[in-house]
Amino acid sequence: MYDIIVVGGGPAGLTAAIYGRRNLKTVLVIEKSVFGGQIVNSPKVENIPGFDSISGDEFGDKLLEQAMGQGAEATIESVTGVRKTDGGFVVSTEDGNDYEGKTVILATGTTHRTLGLPGEEDLIGSSISFCAVCDGEFYRDKTVVMIGGGNSAFVESAMLVGIVKKLIILQDLPKFTADQKLQDQVLGQDNVETHTGTKVLAYETSEDGVLTGVTYEEAGEKKTVSCDGVFLAIGLVPENSAFSAWADLDERGYFVPDNICNTKTPGIFVAGDCCQKTLRQVTTACSDGAYAAIRACDYLMGK
Ligand SMILES: Cc1cc2nc3c(=O)[nH]c(=O)nc-3n(C[C@H](O)[C@H](O)[C@H](O)COP(=O)(O)OP(=O)(O)OC[C@H]3O[C@@H](n4cnc5c(N)ncnc54)[C@H](O)[C@@H]3O)c2cc1C
Repeated sequence: MYDIIVVGGGPAGLTAAIYGRRNLKTVLVIEKSVFGGQIVNSPKVENIPGFDSISGDEFGDKLLEQAMGQGAEATIESVTGVRKTDGGFVVSTEDGNDYEGKTVILATGTTHRTLGLPGEEDLIGSSISFCAVCDGEFYRDKTVVMIGGGNSAFVESAMLVGIVKKLIILQDLPKFTADQKLQDQVLGQDNVETHTGTKVLAYETSEDGVLTGVTYEEAGEKKTVSCDGVFLAIGLVPENSAFSAWADLDERGYFVPDNICNTKTPGIFVAGDCCQKTLRQVTTACSDGAYAAIRACDYLMGK
């Protein structure tokens, strides 16, 4: 029986683990994919206090090291649900394991939004990617389409522009919404072509299912562009439905905590990007993680 089980090993979850351990609570962090969370996909982060510049990967490693160094335990498994018991909660995973905790902190973050077009699911992982730092090298000297025009799209594009032969950016809005500094790094490069006010209609594939292009509509005209790969950067969505019995969700699926990470279920707390909030950043996620852990400690002490 752990004092605190943290679901999600991103900045919020690992900060919760650090604060839990500082209060001498036993802590298990369950992460389904990569410790460090989404930030590991960012090659250069310049707004984490204390670091002029650090790669997201290195930051994630440091966070994990710090949490483990303080004595937190960690496992790589996907949590499928939580159920209530007399002594607390049972957290179940896809691997068939049940972990018992007196409290649970849900720090599940967000995941990438997709277009929902036919064939998309099959192409994700082969020729549709979300992460230039992970997959950009597969497209060296090839043509790729970036779908999106906000900060994430331009962070990814800034990586890709030095690798690919041609980068075609398709944005649905009439203009790009990324920070100007990010746009300046990408726009104006010889190998970048941009189209705004577009609607992506279909992924084109060969008979054997290999991606060959993207069809989109621009100013009422249907066009197809040939490409070897697609990067999707059209926003993030929470995946909290498995926990909706314990914590209220808003219409977009984000947890709705009070202002100190409490949910409607005593003993279950929420933290980070998975919550309804106006600023989703490492600093705000860490802040939530700290609050959630302190709230869990208070709960354990009967406060
Ligand atoms: C490309 C990119 C660049 C960014 N750049 C910056 C930046 O420069 N500065 C900045 O401050 N922020 C940046 N951000 C935002 C920052 O990464 C997030 O705000 C932060 O990671 C949120 O932390 P979190 O712990 O709440 O969620 P996440 O980082 O999303 O972590 C949640 C973790 O929970 C895990 N999880 C989810 N469901 C389950 C489950 N059922 N079972 C087990 N584990 C689960 C996920 O695998 C994930 O690892 C960037 C984000 C992206 C995508």
